[in-house]
Amino acid sequence: MQKYLSVHNISKLFGNFQALKDVSFGVDESEFVCILGPSGCGKTTLLRVIAGLEEQSEGTINQNNKDISLLPPDERDFGIVFQSYALFPNLSVKLLELVGLSDHIDKFSAQLSGGEQQRVALARALAPSPGLLLLDEPLSALDAKVRQYLRLEIKNLQKKLGVTTIMVTHDQEEALTMADRIILMNKGIIEQEGSPYDLYSNPQTSFAANFIGTTNLLEANKISNNQVEIYGSILECKETINENSVTITIRPEDIKINPDSSEKNIFQGVIKELEFLGSNFRGLIEVDFKSQKTNLRCQFSSEYILKNSIEKNNSINISLQPEALKVIKK
Ligand code: ATP
Repeated sequence: MQKYLSVHNISKLFGNFQALKDVSFGVDESEFVCILGPSGCGKTTLLRVIAGLEEQSEGTINQNNKDISLLPPDERDFGIVFQSYALFPNLSVKLLELVGLSDHIDKFSAQLSGGEQQRVALARALAPSPGLLLLDEPLSALDAKVRQYLRLEIKNLQKKLGVTTIMVTHDQEEALTMADRIILMNKGIIEQEGSPYDLYSNPQTSFAANFIGTTNLLEANKISNNQVEIYGSILECKETINENSVTITIRPEDIKINPDSSEKNIFQGVIKELEFLGSNFRGLIEVDFKSQKTNLRCQFSSEYILKNSIEKNNSINISLQPEALKVIKK
């Protein structure tokens, strides 16, 4: 199927500095895509290129079967919301209703809270019924509580209107909760793209594994197609190992304590840290591999820890189950 928006081989140079390197991706009609990445990775530049606010050095952009690469912003079909509040006094009651602000029709914009102001900015962006909604860190200036409910509101509104949306954010939780698909950027390139679940459960690079959620990374050598060696110990993997030298990632919540003896990849360990976080405990386990001890981050449900009276400095068995070990190419 033809994509609603296609970005082809976009590069952007600022003098000698290359902010975007050969970036290509597509967005389906009505899809919500988040461009996620650390500060300086080029995500805002990419959004500005899509809006025509910045001219690409190379590459083309197609929107709704039309080449928009060289059109000025006012000839493109988008609405945009920035991080800072861009206010607009002349909103219709209908639009204010849409974003839940009809009670505030008599207020001057300066009297509105940050969250209300961003709702106004959203109503303004949506007023001309654009084909594309661009959101540039729209929630990052707001406090955590407001951010959380506005996330849900924006997501629900986007689904209700079916407007194709691209949001830039550096906040991985925001991207995981809002996006249909995440485009993860690093140093001007696309590191990986996929559904939030896909990026979390199958990171392809150490950067992706580290940026989305918390993880453990272990250097490993191939022993056979489904076996690796880590610090002198042999571990079974479910995935096929293709390279001789790989990185293995395992999420903290995938480390199992007190496994049945029939389980695979069992090691002894000592709980070095254990921190109560409400529904979970987060901790560090010093795992006894054959030639070296290594600390692994772990996370367990509070119910399990309390029920089994597990405490700091306890010696325990853990299993690093084959299906929890994800192989990353070095
Ligand atoms: P942040 O979250 O901090 O805004 P970002 O991922 O959005 O980061 P960009 O604003 O796209 O990053 O900037 C990418 C790189 O390009 C940065 O190193 C930035 O300094 C540089 N850059 C952006 N705009 C310009 C400009 N007009 N002139 C020179 N360099 C620029």
